[in-house]
Amino acid sequence: MPAFTDYNIDSLAEFLAATGHRPEHARGLLGTFYGQSGRIDLDAQSIPKSLRAILRDRVAERRSCVLLRNPSRDGTVKLLVGMQSGGAVESVLMPTVARPERAAGCVSSQIGCAMGCDFCASTKNGFERNLEAGEIVEQVLHLGREAAESERRLATIVFMGMGEPMLNLSNVTEAIRRISDRRIPSISRRCITVSTVGIVPGIDTLADSGLNVHLAVSLHAPDDATRAKIIPMNRRWDVASIVEATHRYQRITSRVPVIEYTMLDGLNDSEDQAHLLAKILGGMRAHINLIPYNAIGPGLSGTTYQAPPMERMERFLQILRDARFSCHFRITRGDDVNAACGQLRLSVLGST
Ligand code: SF4
Repeated sequence: MPAFTDYNIDSLAEFLAATGHRPEHARGLLGTFYGQSGRIDLDAQSIPKSLRAILRDRVAERRSCVLLRNPSRDGTVKLLVGMQSGGAVESVLMPTVARPERAAGCVSSQIGCAMGCDFCASTKNGFERNLEAGEIVEQVLHLGREAAESERRLATIVFMGMGEPMLNLSNVTEAIRRISDRRIPSISRRCITVSTVGIVPGIDTLADSGLNVHLAVSLHAPDDATRAKIIPMNRRWDVASIVEATHRYQRITSRVPVIEYTMLDGLNDSEDQAHLLAKILGGMRAHINLIPYNAIGPGLSGTTYQAPPMERMERFLQILRDARFSCHFRITRGDDVNAACGQLRLSVLGST
């Protein structure tokens, strides 16, 4: 049985009309549903009696549930969300440091991941399946409820959880349309970021979609030889083609891209690599996020990585700032609750 999250206003209106009800109810129903973070009282007087019965019989309130809730000392809450049609994904709520009334949510787009990035726990069990748009929306609603319980508002969403969003782009873009629909309580597209490991056709399709969301590119190395050691997909789309696609995205959307760079001791943290990164991004207005590596044990290749010493990471940051880039360390959240992407699911479901 479909759930409310499987509909947008237009498709719910069609469903209502097909059951002999006024399609205009669709906006009110979904407005109530999203306004209450995915809850709806089907006994409400505002819903005609005959419609209540149809909705009860034919539309589920939701089709996922929180299997595990892992709160961290720093206020981060990591959820393991089980899907009715099978599998589980991670969704994370992170308090916004400077704005205590706000929180950011990180959602997954796939169950597992086929990309095989060597420093990532999400890929260790391989790829299971793409999430449907409704299943992505349900994560947002679970996070919205979690935020409300700590008197926060879920203000931003990043597609940086498990999976490669560009390989499930039709469901990701449909989920974005549903959660950002201005006719009902929603999240501004200016506050939504889609992250990719560098799937060039996906970057171009997202640029042309008209959604105008933010783009984050997980670059992690400025040269192909280093990047191919940790990201197998680099053999398909190399650093130069990813940087060109990022430029195109910026030209079309006018959004300032985020370059994500996980810092790995002795691998991608040298001064030369910082200078090379500045050179290949030259001319691009970009935010660069340096992410100290969060240990996950051996990667798929068997290599065990470490975060570089702080002084080396600070030198790397300074070189990029001297080159006039906006560059920051991304604060690691939820250290005590399997903070790295995929770790919680792995610790609960185990590796196969
Ligand atoms: S970093 Fe992203 S793309 Fe790479 S394996 Fe992990 S989830 Fe997949």
